[in-house]
Amino acid sequence: MADAQVTRKLSNGAEIPVVGLGVWQVPDGPECERAVAAALETGYRLIDTAQAYGNESSVGRAIRSSGIPREEIFLTTKFYPGKRDARVEAEKSLERLGTDYVDLYLIHWPQGGPTWAWPGMEAASEAGLTRGIGISNFGATELQELLKVSQIPPAVNQILFSPFDYRRSLVEACEDAGVVAQAYSPLGTGRHLDDPAVERIASATGRTPAQVLIRWAVQKGLSVIPKSTHKTRIEENFAVFDFELDEDAVSALDALDTTNQTPDALSRSQKWWS
Ligand code: NDP
Repeated sequence: MADAQVTRKLSNGAEIPVVGLGVWQVPDGPECERAVAAALETGYRLIDTAQAYGNESSVGRAIRSSGIPREEIFLTTKFYPGKRDARVEAEKSLERLGTDYVDLYLIHWPQGGPTWAWPGMEAASEAGLTRGIGISNFGATELQELLKVSQIPPAVNQILFSPFDYRRSLVEACEDAGVVAQAYSPLGTGRHLDDPAVERIASATGRTPAQVLIRWAVQKGLSVIPKSTHKTRIEENFAVFDFELDEDAVSALDALDTTNQTPDALSRSQKWWS
C-alpha cells in the first residue's frame, strides 16, 4: 500500500503524502485510536495531530500497534504557540507520541508574530526531534517576514483551503517560496458537503461531495488532510486518485471562492488568537 502513495516533495527532501488523516476534535482514547488504525489499514501514511488537540498519545498508540514500520508513516504535530519554547514542547510531544521523531513540526498559528518561535523550531530540527519544520495559518506577509530571518526555511504552510476558501494568492506565494501548501478543513469541517453546487458536480462526476472537495484540492497541488472517525468515510476520502475533475467542474468549484483570492491565511474575524 505504501508504495502506492501519491506524494509531494518538500524542500527538506522528504516526500509528504498528498492525502492524510486529520484528528482535530477527536477525543483522546479509543475513538482516536480506531480512526488512526482505520486510516493506516486503508493505506493512509500521513497523520496530522497537534499539541492543542490533546490526542497525541492515542495517535502514537495506534501507530505503534499498526505494525507498520515507523519510517513508512509521515507524522505531523504542531507547536502550541501559547507556550514559549518550541524545542522543549517537541520533546514532550515525542514522549506522548512514543516515537523518536516526527516528520513535520508546524507552528500552529502566528500568535505573537511570525518569527519569535522559529529559533526553537530550528533547534528542534537540529536536535533531530523532527525531520521537517513548517508553519500553519501564516499569510503571505508573515511568510515573507519569516523567510527573511530563517536559517532553515519552512517546508509546509498548512492553511484553511477549500473551494470556498480558495486564497489563491497565498498558495502562489507558498509555491514561489518553495513551500508546500497543505489544505486543512477541506470539507469546511463538514459544512461544504451539502452545498448545492458541490452536490451537483458530485452527481455529474459519479463521486461523493467529499471526494470532489478533496480531489479539487489535490488538483490544485496541495496536500490535504480530511478528518473522519468513520471507517467508510475514511476509505471514501482516500479514494480520490482514480478520477479527475474536468475543466468545467474545476472552474465551477473555483467560482465558489469567498476569499477573493486573498494572500491572507484567515480573515480578521476568523483569527482565534489576538
Ligand atoms: P474536515 O473539513 O476534514 O471535515 C470533517 C467533518 O466532515 C467531520 O464532521 C466528519 O464527520 C465529516 N466527514 C468527513 N468525511 C466525510 C464523508 N466522506 N462524508 C460525510 N461526512 C464526512 O474538518 P476539519 O476542520 O477537522 O479539518 C481536517 C483536519 O485539518 C483537522 O482534523 C486537523 O488535523 C486539520 N486542521 C488544522 C487547523 C490548523 O489550524 N492548522 C485547523 C483546523 C483543522 P465524522 O468524523 O463524523 O465522519
